[in-house]
Amino acid sequence: MAIRIRTVGDTVVALCAAETDKKEGDIYLDDNIHHALMDKFCHELLDYPRDPVAESQKLRDAEEELNKWLADQKIKTEADGVNVEGLKPCRQCGEKEAISKVKCFGNQPGVQCNSCCVLLGPYDIIEEAVEAWNLWSDGEFVSEN
Ligand SMILES: [Zn+2]
Repeated sequence: MAIRIRTVGDTVVALCAAETDKKEGDIYLDDNIHHALMDKFCHELLDYPRDPVAESQKLRDAEEELNKWLADQKIKTEADGVNVEGLKPCRQCGEKEAISKVKCFGNQPGVQCNSCCVLLGPYDIIEEAVEAWNLWSDGEFVSEN
């Protein structure tokens, strides 16, 4: 079934072409493109065998590429002295990995060490909490809200 890709406000939706009329800005995907997308999604999400023509175009394995990328990210974050969430070690206990962005007092952003439970927050936005945590980690005083 053909598809119309349409942007409604800030949302991009995929619509059944038979159930909708063409509008300016729509991207129309015919039955061949729909088949190609279904082949990709069914292979990736449901582990169906790939269309042989599509399979013949494969140059590298996505999982291996993802693992390489993750390893590169780990090297970069270690060089920056931050964990995968961009957070520096806990100044109180020295924990490096188990530092995470949390919601405190209901829904306000903060950062917590899951090892010694020290918590910085609440802040108005998560970026502010991360900056405060990293400054605190470096030994600089930061007043909380
Ligand atoms: Zn700690």
